[in-house]
Amino acid sequence: MSTSHTSLTLVQGDITEQAVDAVVNAANSSLLGGGGVDGAIHRRGGPEILAECRALRDGHYGGGLPTGQAVATTAGRLPARWVVHTVGPVYAKSEDRSDLLASCYRESLQVAGELGARTVAFPAISTGIYGWPLADGARTAVATVRAAVDAAPDAFDEIRFVVFDDSAREAYEAALAATG
Ligand code: ADP
Repeated sequence: MSTSHTSLTLVQGDITEQAVDAVVNAANSSLLGGGGVDGAIHRRGGPEILAECRALRDGHYGGGLPTGQAVATTAGRLPARWVVHTVGPVYAKSEDRSDLLASCYRESLQVAGELGARTVAFPAISTGIYGWPLADGARTAVATVRAAVDAAPDAFDEIRFVVFDDSAREAYEAALAATG
């Protein structure tokens, strides 16, 4: 039985509208914007976020942010305080990259926790443009977050999974029921 004080919740909606301490961005390695969640965060959050991303590229992440790692910026005009950018793996049938997907969730929580975030919202990393099957992506997301909050039961108040459409919601409902 879980002894964690962290609620795992599921919301169908737009990640950019979440009033949490940290929203996670399904970024790409360039950190300079893209489609999907990344595009929405930069559009809604305004140019401050991109300016901070450029500074990261000029500094520690000259080669880009490696897959499975995470780094934070402030959140510009978003209701959140921080954006934690992480780079999911592109899905490949020929190679199991689940460890890298799990690493995105673990590393994002690590970065968010170090900032002092108590509430964190995750999109379904890699399940859009990067092609990861939803059911499997949802299982990896939920299992990894559950393991992290079990290991650090007081670190967060809420970890929120934010999904766009009905099929993603159903995949997360199944994953939460299976591991709960
Ligand atoms: P990736 O490149 O990691 O696959 P995407 O941004 O293309 O990331 O998609 C990740 C998931 O987020 C997909 O399931 C997609 O439907 C969903 N999504 C896209 N835009 C938003 C948004 N604004 N809020 C929440 N989820 C979104």
